[in-house]
Amino acid sequence: MINIAIDGPAGAGKSTIAKAISRELGIIYLDTGAMYRAVALKAIRSGIDTGDQPAVESMVEDIDIRIEYKDNEQRIFLDGTDVTGMIRTPEVSVGASDVAVIPAVRKKMVELQRSIAKNNDVVMDGRDIGTFVLPDASYKFFLTASLDERARRRFNEITANGMTGVSLEDVKKDIAYRDNNDSSRSFAPLSKAPDALEIDTTGISPEEVVRIIMDTIKNRKTVGAAK
Ligand code: C5P
Repeated sequence: MINIAIDGPAGAGKSTIAKAISRELGIIYLDTGAMYRAVALKAIRSGIDTGDQPAVESMVEDIDIRIEYKDNEQRIFLDGTDVTGMIRTPEVSVGASDVAVIPAVRKKMVELQRSIAKNNDVVMDGRDIGTFVLPDASYKFFLTASLDERARRRFNEITANGMTGVSLEDVKKDIAYRDNNDSSRSFAPLSKAPDALEIDTTGISPEEVVRIIMDTIKNRKTVGAAK
C-alpha cells in the first residue's frame, strides 16, 4: 500500500495539493478535516456548544460518519445524510477545531482513517497524519505558508464559493484561532513529523508544490526542507 501524509496548518494548500497528487498517482484522497467538521456540524445542529467537552464526548458515542467516493470526489455522510456541502462555513471551521481537541473524538476519527489507509492506496491530509495516524506512511510532507497568505487563500476560496458577509480579517482571526488550538492541544497536536519534508508554499504556485512532491516521491527522498 502507498500511504502519503500531508499535514500543515489551515490554508497551507493541503487539499489542493493532495487532490492533485491523488490524480497524478491514481489513488484516493482522504480529507480528514471533513470528519472533524462533520462532528462539529452535528454538535451545532443539536444545540451543543462545541467547547462543551463532556456533551460532545457523549454525542460522538453513537455518531455515524462515513466516507464515500463519487466520480473520484470524497463525499461525507453524517448519520446517513450527505453533508459534504454543509461543512465549509466559518462556524463549522471553528467548531471543528474545538471538537478536535477532545481525545474521544480523535480516537474515533483516527480509527476510521486508519481503516481506510489499510485497505487503499491513499493520500491523506490533516494535522496529525504523519505523527500519529500513519507514523509509517510511505511519504510525509508538511506544508506551511505565512498567516497572511493562508488567510488570503482561504478568503478567496470562500468568496469563490459564493459565501458573502465574511471579511479577510474574520478569516485571518479564525485561522489564527485554529492554529493556536491545533498546535497547543495535548493529544496529537499539529506538528511536523521528524521525517516529513517541510515545504514553505508562500509565493509558490500549487503546480510547483506538486512538482516538488512528485519529484520527492520519484526519487524516494523523505527528509529535509524545500522551498
Ligand atoms: O483541514 P480542515 O481545515 O478542514 O480541518 C478543520 C479542523 O479539523 C482543523 O482546524 C483541526 O482542528 C481539525 N483537524 C484535526 N486533525 C486532522 C484534520 C483536521 O485536528 N487530521
